[in-house]
Amino acid sequence: MKNIAIIGAGMTGLSLAYNLQEHNITIFDKSWRPGGRVSTRKHDNYLFDHGAHYLSTNHSVNQLNEVISRYNLGQVIEIDFATDYLKNKKTRKKIIIGQNGMNSIPKSIFDNIKVNSCLNSKIIKISKNSNDLFSLFSEKEEFKDFDFVLFCIPYFQSKELLKDLIDFTQIVSEPSYDPIHTVMLSYKENNNINIKAGLNLHKDISFFMNQNIKFNELSDDSWVLNMSSEYTNNNINIDKSVLEKYAQSIFEKTFEIKNEISFIKSHRWLYAQTKVTYNSISKKNWINSKDNKIFLSGDWVLGKSLSDAWDAGEKLSHYIKILSV
Ligand SMILES: Cc1cc2nc3c(=O)[nH]c(=O)nc-3n(C[C@H](O)[C@H](O)[C@H](O)COP(=O)(O)OP(=O)(O)OC[C@H]3O[C@@H](n4cnc5c(N)ncnc54)[C@H](O)[C@@H]3O)c2cc1C
Repeated sequence: MKNIAIIGAGMTGLSLAYNLQEHNITIFDKSWRPGGRVSTRKHDNYLFDHGAHYLSTNHSVNQLNEVISRYNLGQVIEIDFATDYLKNKKTRKKIIIGQNGMNSIPKSIFDNIKVNSCLNSKIIKISKNSNDLFSLFSEKEEFKDFDFVLFCIPYFQSKELLKDLIDFTQIVSEPSYDPIHTVMLSYKENNNINIKAGLNLHKDISFFMNQNIKFNELSDDSWVLNMSSEYTNNNINIDKSVLEKYAQSIFEKTFEIKNEISFIKSHRWLYAQTKVTYNSISKKNWINSKDNKIFLSGDWVLGKSLSDAWDAGEKLSHYIKILSV
């Protein structure tokens, strides 16, 4: 049995933890909750999935399907979906959502696996000891004696942390990300919008989704809007209230809304979705240190969805099993 540290309790880190439970695993996250970009936000009585919105029914990761049915994590719903709102293209679409918001998926996996966990622990340093084992440091604590350390955080954050332990000059082409501003908004009155989600609401809003279809307890008509990556890139440091007013005005104009908002907030995801995957430029499924003890993984290896994140973790877990024999 090896001592293994997993940094990041998003879908990649949880996939690794799920697959390596025969080892002594400690999973670290800087946040108070697992899930990373699969994030359900609660403000008073308002609820929003403002990270990942849904899981595709035709994703190809068998193990993720098994895990979802094993722990009863998802429900399939069918909704009116605009495949391209600006071109008036619509369809009925089946999607998988969490039983209680998208974050209930990683949260239930986290609750069901047998691992040690250190939430609220941002790892800021890592060092190799004379006995060839690793220590990790948060602001307050040192965590000792790991045989393997698996980083499952956005690529550029791993690179910054590991620049003394991994030779990143060997990586000629790097993966890249698109940032996304998300806007969460609610109305006391129902706006009776038939289409429940879709792409290309406007040149600056790439995705929109109703939240009442996910949360029965919501009384207000609630929506999440994703600003396009181009808009987000061009307005990366925009004042939040300016952004929120702009998104609201597009939404209200598009659906001819006269009601007053009851809630509005926004969030900036700097590393929202993978643009260029590491696998597409290197044909590799992870990055490792020379001694094969430190590894980097994440959705950025394979794609831009939570199934890619799961798949990336699962692939790396097979290799760690071989190294651990
Ligand atoms: C707005 C938005 C919409 C999306 N929509 C969809 C969708 O509809 N469907 C879909 O399938 N996918 C969607 N995605 C993508 C999906 O959310 C990601 O692909 C997936 O969640 C990535 O998982 P991950 O584990 O690789 O990374 P993350 O979820 O980013 O996990 C990394 C974790 O590491 C932690 N961390 C970072 N640094 C440290 C540190 N130094 N120490 C300790 N912990 C640290 C973070 O807190 C985080 O929990 C969306 C993403 C965004 C942002």
